[in-house]
Amino acid sequence: MIDFELPQEIKDFQKMVHDFADQTFRPISRKYDELEHVYPKELDMLKGMTSLDRKKKNKDGKQVESKPTSDKIGSNMKGVISAEEISWADPSFLLSIPNAGMGNVALATIATDEQYEQYGDKWLAMALTEPGSGSDSGAIRATAELDGDEWVLNGEKIFVSCADRCDAIIVWASVDRSAGKAGMKSFIVDRDAPGMKLEKLEKKMGLRGSDTGTFVMTDCRIPKGNILGSAEVVQSTEGFKGAMKSFDSSRPMVAAQGVGVTRAAVELTKEVMEENGIKPDYKRHVNNVSSMEKEFYMMEAQLEAIRLLSWKAAWMADNKRYNTIEASMAKGKAGRQATLITSKCCELLGPLGLSTKLLAEKWFRDSKVMDIFEGTGQIQHLIVARGVLGLSSKKLK
Ligand SMILES: Cc1cc2nc3c(=O)[nH]c(=O)nc-3n(C[C@H](O)[C@H](O)[C@H](O)COP(=O)(O)OP(=O)(O)OC[C@H]3O[C@@H](n4cnc5c(N)ncnc54)[C@H](O)[C@@H]3O)c2cc1C
Repeated sequence: MIDFELPQEIKDFQKMVHDFADQTFRPISRKYDELEHVYPKELDMLKGMTSLDRKKKNKDGKQVESKPTSDKIGSNMKGVISAEEISWADPSFLLSIPNAGMGNVALATIATDEQYEQYGDKWLAMALTEPGSGSDSGAIRATAELDGDEWVLNGEKIFVSCADRCDAIIVWASVDRSAGKAGMKSFIVDRDAPGMKLEKLEKKMGLRGSDTGTFVMTDCRIPKGNILGSAEVVQSTEGFKGAMKSFDSSRPMVAAQGVGVTRAAVELTKEVMEENGIKPDYKRHVNNVSSMEKEFYMMEAQLEAIRLLSWKAAWMADNKRYNTIEASMAKGKAGRQATLITSKCCELLGPLGLSTKLLAEKWFRDSKVMDIFEGTGQIQHLIVARGVLGLSSKKLK
């Protein structure tokens, strides 16, 4: 029998995160939206909880768990459940949790033990996108050349989340542009490495509590050991694909971010509808349902669908099942529905939907990016179509 009920232990965890987010994060959501780029210092409270435990030693002094893995039963599920609750309070805060940047996911997936030892408790951003290369990540132009004991990096990286707050950045660059994707490697670059400059912070429509910036690397020098994975260029895209695997864990989380903001908007709309005497009555015959109620039921159904998709993708990751298609299904549908539903909620709320008295207008602005970053909705459709049809990226573009 299929059972979608969460185990009690996970329900307790969900309630704990929800209560914390409700009491601590929701009340400061508007403030940091207005302040834009200012780090919500209240998030420091999450520091200990999210920094990954890599210092456990056994009685012989040997490290027991040097690297967190996403294959522990429950860690991906716990991730999506807390992502929903935090995003319910404020989706930009999910991108602002200390030491839990996109670069941290990549580090946990591909770093050596030594690299993990050095960078595991730092805050890591991820810089892949460039002017002219976002969806087509194989087209990046940033380069890395070995010069003695150092890599020398040159190029520009745009729309980097946590650009100002991070300690270091996982930068994607090519060691051999003629080799295409096989030449693409990732490097750990300290924020203050010589030649690394934070050029500007982006002024955004939504997710304004999260800092997004541009880095320019001009003969930026980093130690030879800061390459993630092997420096060898083999004529295969396996290395690139391996690194892309971090999306299988991060996309369900971004989907859950969409679930959280959608739920916030749906709950608020229900509250206001009820204050105005429109109470959903699920027993009423379909012929006697008002148009507002119909809209509301459809939103609730989509909300449930995106939550189940994000859970399924995360559950598969926890259970070491191949989940690339499901992660993209969850991210693609959740990103789309978050934008549609938060917009519909603003409509149903009337003038209140546009007023800064409520957070509905903010959630509408925040949700837009969820259909863009971590791969746009169109790119998720492409990944799903390739997976379902069994076609390679060369055959289906
Ligand atoms: C707030 C924010 C935070 C971000 N954070 C990060 C970050 O931390 N690190 C990082 O590296 N990047 C980050 N990004 C960048 C983001 O991942 C890219 O913007 C995104 O991948 C799209 O790439 P692009 O901007 O080059 O758009 P393009 O690839 O140029 O896409 C433009 C349009 O064309 C469509 N399109 C492109 N190719 C196809 C195709 N083959 N089939 C159908 N349609 C297609 C796209 O779906 C889109 O609608 C962030 C962006 C934002 C807005």
